[in-house]
Amino acid sequence: MSFYYGVDIGGTTVKLGRFREDGTLLEKWELPTRLGENGKYILDDIAASILSKTVEAGGSPSQIQGVGMGIPGPILPDGCMEVGVNVGMRHAYPARELSERLGLPLVRCENDANVAALGEAWKGGGAGFSSIFLFTLGTGVGGGAVRDGRILSGSHGIAGEIGHTTVNLTETEACNCGNRGCLEQYASATGLVRVAQRALAASQAPSLLRDIKNLTAKDVMDAAKEGDSLAGEAAAVMGRYLAWAMSWVSHILDPEAFVIGGGVSAAGEFLLGLMREEYEKRTPMLSRKAELRLATLGNEAGIYGAVRLVLEP
Ligand SMILES: [Zn+2]
Repeated sequence: MSFYYGVDIGGTTVKLGRFREDGTLLEKWELPTRLGENGKYILDDIAASILSKTVEAGGSPSQIQGVGMGIPGPILPDGCMEVGVNVGMRHAYPARELSERLGLPLVRCENDANVAALGEAWKGGGAGFSSIFLFTLGTGVGGGAVRDGRILSGSHGIAGEIGHTTVNLTETEACNCGNRGCLEQYASATGLVRVAQRALAASQAPSLLRDIKNLTAKDVMDAAKEGDSLAGEAAAVMGRYLAWAMSWVSHILDPEAFVIGGGVSAAGEFLLGLMREEYEKRTPMLSRKAELRLATLGNEAGIYGAVRLVLEP
């Protein structure tokens, strides 16, 4: 019996999955992310959990064949994570460190957004395409490119970080990254709410959003679908900037398909509709446009992509 694991490390929880060699997910579970000591506890907990699950399933540690991990932050080609703010790591080598704990040679680690893209390309909304680009629209905007079953990781660890490309030169508020006018400031869940709240403050126009206390991205999308013009404007801004980002990706990488995931993608076909027309307008040189699809794996994209790192054909 062979044991393969996919691990998706986040700022509050670590998601884990045990897989068969053919990529079938056998079981999944979560651990709380224990911060501190430069990520030491996170890796200790992952190693202990993997060892105990292996024994529980009737195996022995020597039957663990590979562990793949996704982790939030840039990973350099030598496996170094210079700064991983959400997981409290600084100049850490997570793959090497987990490999030492498990006595296992095959441990691989990649940026979490890239890993999610690999998962969607393999088993999700991008399955069947040779190359995809995934947008993850959550608290932030993540991105990742996959071609022929491999992540395009880049040389400095930020390939795919589409959320911090500039879309608006006149923005006055700063993005989390320190820049101004990043895609993430308009096209993430937080960004969509921010744009809607700004519009509410700037006008007296009637809107369904005025009576809502703790406005969420879903509220804005739902109101936009119902024809609320203020919410519709915020959603349109999001769609337009995402379409620009898609056109840049098309001109640089020319993927077969774009896959849209993350919480905001629950808006479904309505969201894709906001993006499609502007994307077509911005890519006149493309005779055949890239397909636009919704992600299908939800928050399992990370563990699928992670295990794929160690299940390469
Ligand atoms: Zn930014």
